Amino acid sequence: MGLYCDVALPLPLDQTFTYAVNGVVPVVGARVLVPFSGQKLMGVVVRVHEDAPVEEFEIKPVQQVLDEVALLPDELMKLAEWIASYYVAPLGEVLRGMLPLAAEVKRHFSYRIAEAGRRVLYEGAEKGSSRRSKLTAEEQNREYAVLNYLESGEQAKMSALRSATGANKGLLEGMVRKKWLVREAVAEERDARRLEKVAVLMGSQLSDVSSQRESGDLLRTENGELTTQARLPRLNENQLAVMAELAAVGGRMRMGDLRITLTRAGVPLSTLGTLMKRGLVGIEEVAEKFHLGGISARGKKHAHEHALNEAQMEALGTIAAAMDKGGFRPHLLYGITGSGKTTVYFAAMRRALDAGKSALLLVPEIGLTPAMAVQMYAAFEGEVAMLHSQLTPDERAEQWHRTRRGEARIVVGTRSAVFAPMVNLGLIIVDEEHDSSYKQEETPRYHGRDVAVMRAKLNEAVVVLGSATPSLESWANADKGRYARVEMRERVMERPLPVVELVDMRAEFRETGQEQIFSRKLIEETQLTLDRGEQVILLLNRRGYSTVVMCRSCGEKIECENCAISMTYHKKVSDNDAIAQPGQRLECHYCGFRRAVPKVCPKCESEHLYFLGAGSQQGEERLQELFPAARIGRMDRDTVRGRSDMERLLARLHGGEINLLVGTQMIAKGHDIHGVTLVGVVGADFQLGLPDFRAAERVFQLLTQVSGRAGRGDLPGKVLVQTYHPDHYAIQFAATHDYPGFVAKEMNYRRWMHYPPFAVLANVLIQSEKLEEATAWAGTLGRWFQLARLDKVRVLGPAAAPIVRLKRIYRFHFVLKAERRQALGSTLRAMLAYAETQGIARRNLVVDVDAVHLM
Ligand code: ADP
Ligand code: ZN
Ligand code: ZN
Repeated sequence: MGLYCDVALPLPLDQTFTYAVNGVVPVVGARVLVPFSGQKLMGVVVRVHEDAPVEEFEIKPVQQVLDEVALLPDELMKLAEWIASYYVAPLGEVLRGMLPLAAEVKRHFSYRIAEAGRRVLYEGAEKGSSRRSKLTAEEQNREYAVLNYLESGEQAKMSALRSATGANKGLLEGMVRKKWLVREAVAEERDARRLEKVAVLMGSQLSDVSSQRESGDLLRTENGELTTQARLPRLNENQLAVMAELAAVGGRMRMGDLRITLTRAGVPLSTLGTLMKRGLVGIEEVAEKFHLGGISARGKKHAHEHALNEAQMEALGTIAAAMDKGGFRPHLLYGITGSGKTTVYFAAMRRALDAGKSALLLVPEIGLTPAMAVQMYAAFEGEVAMLHSQLTPDERAEQWHRTRRGEARIVVGTRSAVFAPMVNLGLIIVDEEHDSSYKQEETPRYHGRDVAVMRAKLNEAVVVLGSATPSLESWANADKGRYARVEMRERVMERPLPVVELVDMRAEFRETGQEQIFSRKLIEETQLTLDRGEQVILLLNRRGYSTVVMCRSCGEKIECENCAISMTYHKKVSDNDAIAQPGQRLECHYCGFRRAVPKVCPKCESEHLYFLGAGSQQGEERLQELFPAARIGRMDRDTVRGRSDMERLLARLHGGEINLLVGTQMIAKGHDIHGVTLVGVVGADFQLGLPDFRAAERVFQLLTQVSGRAGRGDLPGKVLVQTYHPDHYAIQFAATHDYPGFVAKEMNYRRWMHYPPFAVLANVLIQSEKLEEATAWAGTLGRWFQLARLDKVRVLGPAAAPIVRLKRIYRFHFVLKAERRQALGSTLRAMLAYAETQGIARRNLVVDVDAVHLM
């Protein structure tokens, strides 16, 4: 009697695969390497059994068992199964997302000679190389060298081919395209020691490079003597800049940091290569220390240092009582901006630790709120592990193992940290639970908040969802009594909420006769605020300079080549800008495609191109004209890219070095800057026009969150909202800080329209690079939905998706609505089964249960 195991593989297939156990018997939850159609893949064992499979084809053996004990604890295996079923996602893909250990099994490519390649090799050059070949003679020779090397038929790794023949990846890929070679993915185990590269200044005589930079020809040695340049080869300005950067920090710098520094200074990276060749800079590999940047408290108390006020005590009391009682208990903490939610979180986590349990804090994006991380370390020191996307795979693996071993009992992280292998989990907190970044926009398309609640259930733990603007879904759950509602309706220290004033931009246009980014009122208030020595934040929620480039003659907008999306104009950045950026260009914000700015319309060649719609870059430029004395900063995806950009910008803001900040919604995140007394909102209401039933909710949330940045210190705050829709209820309720009022109104609309939370919804995308294929498949499924006569599920579509083409893929969709989740799930599964019979590959169908974006 043989022994078998079922393995979930990271493939877009809704099934597991059976392998024969070969020697070591794996446990459920262990990783194994198994053969799969010519590749080696890593999967997770989900069942071990003796039921010989009945299929006629041969059952292959497991190649290697990677873990002696289950890598995933039982409750995470259960959670994975729940996600696979709830989100109609392949179990193997769910499990892959849970294991941060890709670093330990690295995939690489290897190459093998193909039939066509052999022919080329044997039949000689004339036939093999096309006469029109663009390759140089040298490249052609190299191709032959590769074919020769692979002649035996064995596969070889790219690195081996490179050192044997000098072929690079581009050349090899070209040969794959010509079908001379086949490429195969191979999984290979790797040692997860964490090494990092450090650039080191070589030679002690270079201890003060900057002096040569100033004097041009002299250099001071270590013992203070001046030497002439003879000892140092002549260096150009860029080379000196690199050397000076290194010298300034004691001669050593992490490569990652150096790269960022150089980019910023506009020094090409090749300069570093030149210096290495000349032996002036060396590279060392050293064991990496876990790095956490951070901004200091700047005189403010840390969250855990406050004595709780009454409302905080009450909130903590409810949560702590639930923890004492034990068992699964979900809470919705509705606390207005500035009510001190973080302090409650920390106190609750402390309680969990005191009770011998561990606690998990989920945040939307750690990089955007570095203060949270700093406060975590201040409060819990060595107990903390961090899990977020900015860690390298090796760092993530280390944090993961520390958690799994029970060394870190406090974990803070973004979405996927909900899978942290906590030991004895007692408490999960989801901060800003309404934030859409909790929704993963690729398979498995889970919602981190909802998974957190399910996880708490499986772990019999307490879960707290916190927000000043809870999602309607969570609010409805509280209404139904599923979640206990905890409220904090006042700001700490009796600070008032800011006064919100609306500026009607239609009237502004009538009165001034021109379209301006900033209204007269906002300009005046900004000036007054700056004059008082206070700080101003302006939200301009689009990045770039102009959001649309339109031809006046033919009316055509310039669209991305890959997407049905207007391209955004980015202006060349001035030299004194803090960050080096590419020059002027049109850019697609969906796929990153860039093109030069055309002088004439690509369609009709008219010269009348108009640049419309102001982005943050243009906002900044205009502010510089309006307030030449202001110290202006900008916060958007163009200025905040690396791990430390946000920290640096916030530090300058906290320190008062910046007194006028313009930016996209990043500026609305939980920043707690006490000097800000004026917040201006510019064009946040364009979102109201988007074809999405959550548009009003999003605008309300954004306005409330950004308003919440004003008046957090000793001085009261003020908010000016420029709008073309001053009567819209989302704007009106935001202006009066009336979340309950907004929710009541919005709930009516959702009920009426059968939208969540009064129905469950899934978005089904049909996608293909070929338009005909996408439309045909959409038609096929549309007919099936009709014939199936579903009475419990309403189907809208097929229709072109709001973005009909994205990254070269055509997209059509259906929206399914049902009263009951079960009906929705079974319909989706039946649809997938039917699609398979029609030859529609699973990867061409995206099933998005509880879709957050219908675009
Ligand atoms: P929220 O996340 O609810 O918007 P925070 O947790 O950021 O609010 O707290 C707002 C500010 O109030 C922070 O500066 C915090 O340090 C301070 N704070 C929190 N609790 C107290 C307290 N009990 N007494 C005084 N200040 C407090
Ligand atoms: Zn035109
Ligand atoms: Zn694009």
